[in-house]
Amino acid sequence: MLTDVTTDIKSLTREELATVFNRWRQPAYRVAQLLQWLYLRRATEWDAMTNLPKTLRDQLKGEFMLQPLELVRKQGARDTTQKFLWRLTDHSLIESVLIPANPALYGEASDRHTLCVSTQVGCAYGCKFCASGLNGWKRNLMPHEIVEQVLAVERWHQRETGREKSEGRNADGALVTGAAAAPAPPPVRLINNLVIMGMGEPLANYDNLLKALHILNAPWGGGIGARKITISTSGLAPQIRKLADEPEQFRLAVSLHGATDEVRSRIMPVNRKYPLRELTAALEYYRSKRDRILTFEYILIAGVNDSLPQARALATLARRFQAKVNLIPYNQVEGLAWDRPSEAVCEEFLAVLEKQRVIATLRREKGHDIDAACGQLRLKTERELASTT
Ligand code: SAH
Ligand code: SF4
Repeated sequence: MLTDVTTDIKSLTREELATVFNRWRQPAYRVAQLLQWLYLRRATEWDAMTNLPKTLRDQLKGEFMLQPLELVRKQGARDTTQKFLWRLTDHSLIESVLIPANPALYGEASDRHTLCVSTQVGCAYGCKFCASGLNGWKRNLMPHEIVEQVLAVERWHQRETGREKSEGRNADGALVTGAAAAPAPPPVRLINNLVIMGMGEPLANYDNLLKALHILNAPWGGGIGARKITISTSGLAPQIRKLADEPEQFRLAVSLHGATDEVRSRIMPVNRKYPLRELTAALEYYRSKRDRILTFEYILIAGVNDSLPQARALATLARRFQAKVNLIPYNQVEGLAWDRPSEAVCEEFLAVLEKQRVIATLRREKGHDIDAACGQLRLKTERELASTT
């Protein structure tokens, strides 16, 4: 019955789909056809899946949702950082940020695009400087809502560049149906680098996140390499250990923002639950399990964490874990009193790290003119909506 249809098809793995199709006595190749429509063609309607028999499409329609994200607002010019605000079926708002190739941050120079995705509506962790936590936590995103952020941005890009070819038609433009009719060649993929740094604490939505990343990583799904996927956490020590035990080699970034408990606890309440001793023990475990690069994110906030003793303590931590450090001058959030340090202070902080032979970058590009830090566009839109009602 239609009213029972609550699971979106993009929350299912290939194995789960295979089980469903097996139950429906469908041949195995139908699963591959469906996956092509979902993740290569990025179909938004069942009836576009022209090489699936109508009876099967109707059965799918009766069992599953196929819901694209609704674009509410977009900020940023093409070829620069662009921010997307999406509305979910329950009217919650979430954000994704598309970042053009940026060799200094995550990965090598290339024409790749990085997408920053959200994992929750709001955030429960209440870091003092962050817009995402300002209105608290509303709910976890379902796997398909995480997966859809990638697909919806790629759909948008495809429309923009006019590259879309009519779905389910052969080279002559004639409709093709039936098992033998393979879909047209896949559209070009835009995103090959993913950072889980949008709204929410990813490791607090662990199971849904891991399922979404499994789908986005799989060759039958998003096809994004595990090493091109970076999960950012405010430091949930038990989940970091759990992540270390996963078979997929996702990268980990830790939002440190303070190199001593005193400074960190002042701006990140999570540090009281998992102080640096516990966090670093979990990171030791993570490093022992997999030999890979760890990143420390460090926002520079004027007069809070930008002193030279903090830089030296950060250098010590980074050396201990052979971690790369990303320094990010604070992006001002409306209504919050924090500010970024001067350029000279940022450069001096960087110099201390470099002197200690820590690999570090200082973000100098201006994303802040479009509220590029997570949660800010949503906050702004919600405030605007509130003031008009
Ligand atoms: N909850 C996770 C991931 C989302 S936040 C985490 O905290 O790591 C992603 C990154 O944006 C974090 O490093 C966070 O500290 C940073 N951030 C939040 N507000 C910011 C702001 N106003 N300016 C710059 N970076 C900010
Ligand atoms: Fe949540 Fe991360 Fe923002 Fe902290 S920085 S409130 S953990 S989204």
